[in-house]
Amino acid sequence: MQRSSTSDAIVATSLAASGNTASAEATDSDRFHVQEPNVVHDDEFWYPDGSIVLIAERRAFRVYRGILVQESVVFRDLLSSGLPQPEGTPEIDRCPLLQLEDSAEDLRHFLRFLLCRRHFVPLEDPIPFSAVAAIIRLGHKYQVDIAEKEGLRLLQTIFVTEFHDKPSIVDGHIDCDWAEMIPGPRPQSTSKPTIQYKQRDAITAAKLARLTDVLEILPTAFYVCCQLDIGTLLQGNGTDSLGQSDLITCLNGRDALSCANAEATCRIFEPPPRSKWFHACNRREACRAARDSIFSDDDLIGSLLLRRNILMGWQDIIESNGFCDVCDSHLSERASEEVQRAWDHLPSYFSLDISPWNLEASSETE
Ligand SMILES: [Zn+2]
Repeated sequence: MQRSSTSDAIVATSLAASGNTASAEATDSDRFHVQEPNVVHDDEFWYPDGSIVLIAERRAFRVYRGILVQESVVFRDLLSSGLPQPEGTPEIDRCPLLQLEDSAEDLRHFLRFLLCRRHFVPLEDPIPFSAVAAIIRLGHKYQVDIAEKEGLRLLQTIFVTEFHDKPSIVDGHIDCDWAEMIPGPRPQSTSKPTIQYKQRDAITAAKLARLTDVLEILPTAFYVCCQLDIGTLLQGNGTDSLGQSDLITCLNGRDALSCANAEATCRIFEPPPRSKWFHACNRREACRAARDSIFSDDDLIGSLLLRRNILMGWQDIIESNGFCDVCDSHLSERASEEVQRAWDHLPSYFSLDISPWNLEASSETE
């Protein structure tokens, strides 16, 4: 894993010369407590017996120097020899100040992990994606391995590498518009999500995969990126945007997924040899007509052939077109094979060489 240098990561600075005003979010109560320099005490992390004040975006977090030193290699290196304080550098309540370049929200999530880890146990509500992203980002930056590893573990409950976990990115945990693209009922989630996230968070997931060099996150992250509207894909999600190379990969991936989906749709619903598909069907003419109706419905076939969410499968189409049980079963089996095939090829749509997929492919051929 590549990490930024300590000097890049942290800037110890005097805030006295800064003329910035306190956050607009500050309440009167906050402002009452503000002393020089002009920062706002964080409501959640301002321990009266704290021994160091961290500043992020003019938010002040009074926490425990000993815990930072204990948990973080970077803070240990920086603080164990004493924080360099230029003459005249202000203190708050006799605590040294440390200006960080992180967002206040990221720092708050990170401190929750260090000081109140219960926030990262999804007992009832799923963990916000922003919290998971923050502990990966700052855990990596400040070399708190347990934070980075736990964040990546949580992230990989959504952006998975194994086929049996596939529904975590396709079955409704994200704010996609698949139900609008494909008529019929939307598949129901069978498991409670660990993380509360939106489709556009896949951009951040891809960035975190690059940051930490955990590349097996990329196929599913790119897959979800390919479901985004083109504006979001190009401009980013407000927090992160894809690098140029990954953006090109996703644009090519959109085409590859559409092409694969069109081919798979034709394979599933292509007319079978008379001796096979309709052999056991006792409603032959009706099922043949049902099949033909899919291809004669311009709107349906148009959306089916152009869609990119190939892992969603075709079950809703099969169930809504009135096939008999025999044909329903036969088509469902074909559709399952196509979803499996698409999953097996997922890295290749993005020109990725990811070992879990390769291992599965090789085991199948043995
Ligand atoms: Zn039939």
